[in-house]
Amino acid sequence: MKFLILSENSNGSWPYLHFRGLGSFELTRRISDAGYKSTVLDWFTYWSIDELKESAEAWFGNEVEPVIAISTPFNTKDVYYLEPFLLWAKAKWKNLTVIHGGGRVYDPGVKNVDVFFLGRSMQIFDDWLHRRDLTRYKVNDSPLVLKNLDFNQYIDVPVIPTVQDDDFYTKDDILGFEIGVGCKFNCTFCNYELRGAKISKLADSKSLHKFFYDSYNKYGIENFFIADDTPNESDVKLEILIEALEGLNFHPKITGFTRLDILAGRPKQLEYYKKIKFDSLFFGVESFNDKASKGIRKKSDLFNVYDTLKKLREVTPNTFLVAGLIIGLNGDSEKSIRDSIDRVVEEKLLDSLQMYPLLLLKSQNAIMGEGYMSELESNPEKFGYKLTGVTEPTVISGDLVHKAQWVSDWTDYNSAEALADQLAKETAKRISNLNHMEYAGLRSLNLIDKSDPEFYLNLPMIRTRSFSKSTRLKKEYVAKKVNYFRSMKNA
Ligand code: SF4
Repeated sequence: MKFLILSENSNGSWPYLHFRGLGSFELTRRISDAGYKSTVLDWFTYWSIDELKESAEAWFGNEVEPVIAISTPFNTKDVYYLEPFLLWAKAKWKNLTVIHGGGRVYDPGVKNVDVFFLGRSMQIFDDWLHRRDLTRYKVNDSPLVLKNLDFNQYIDVPVIPTVQDDDFYTKDDILGFEIGVGCKFNCTFCNYELRGAKISKLADSKSLHKFFYDSYNKYGIENFFIADDTPNESDVKLEILIEALEGLNFHPKITGFTRLDILAGRPKQLEYYKKIKFDSLFFGVESFNDKASKGIRKKSDLFNVYDTLKKLREVTPNTFLVAGLIIGLNGDSEKSIRDSIDRVVEEKLLDSLQMYPLLLLKSQNAIMGEGYMSELESNPEKFGYKLTGVTEPTVISGDLVHKAQWVSDWTDYNSAEALADQLAKETAKRISNLNHMEYAGLRSLNLIDKSDPEFYLNLPMIRTRSFSKSTRLKKEYVAKKVNYFRSMKNA
């Protein structure tokens, strides 16, 4: 077998950014371990169909078992773009297999794909690659749809990319890595399938050091994102990161998530944050109200989170700090939410605030089942939320879902949505609403500067400029990779 991996991760929430995908690295590693060759085409919707055809011809040549592997973590509909290319490829190579992974949902509108991998696909992919029995995963025969409900953190290992010349990096790229897979917590609103994980395989600091070293010294890359859901769930993860940074000839700018209540409960971690100097951080605070936090299994009553934010500001003043708040939780109130927002804005404890109503989603796609639902979604009544109906279906992350209409002890879904919108409007001139990843993407292109206190007032113009800059970067990458295939053909 020989693999052409087509990846597209940039048509989700931020089409104007240019992060490199993480999944394709892991695919490449597993394919290589099995003794096969592969190469990655990033941002495939930026390739013309002719460029895709020419490249596939050069790569596969007379290969008897060609495989096109498509990875779309955020938008399955990107595969629609490939239809003429896949039709052409299927006519050209009779033994061609086309596989697709990255989503939780089977979209029957995606044509010319032979095998769909749903959910956490690496276990299924390994079994498929090694031609093992797939019966236990099968939910559809033609096309073959395989789903994995075995949420096993032993199988998924943390991804540390091996950076290679045929990926044509430039200094503007932003690369991801993981220290551990899974999260040991079990917040009631969270639908991450590897939550409540007891054991995690952790990355080795030497491999991580080499990844940073090679990325910078070969390609000039300084920007990274840590994909772990909770990098500070244990001190060990942070210690691994600090060890990896030691002795580098540059300081990586890293963005990631952090649990503020854990940081508050383990002041020792502030010393770690001082060393790591994250470029930006996202805290899923959800609520600054003790009672509401407890109800979702966060613990802000035990510690003073405001004080922790202040201390974090002192130890790492250049880190861009973002918090997310959920509007509508039991135990909360409009007054409590407004007071907390006023406090973090007035005391400049945060750089950005994102507010959203409590979302309880009901998928129209029954294929994935309970494992992909939060406890609140599975059993809202148990947590004191009464359901009164659902909204019209809407597409979220490629899935057709209904939003449940709920009533909590002080509000309901529609009022919470209206309040979130109102608060966003009221705070728009006082604090930004950027997510940490969006900040990292825009900052990496030198389009924003945290030291400008009002940069966010120009965001529409900044996003437009980012779109043209990132499109240029993607097109330059495509041109280099096409030349790489051309040289293969002419060799
Ligand atoms: S919300 Fe974050 S901390 Fe809570 S279970 Fe999910 S991944 Fe873990």
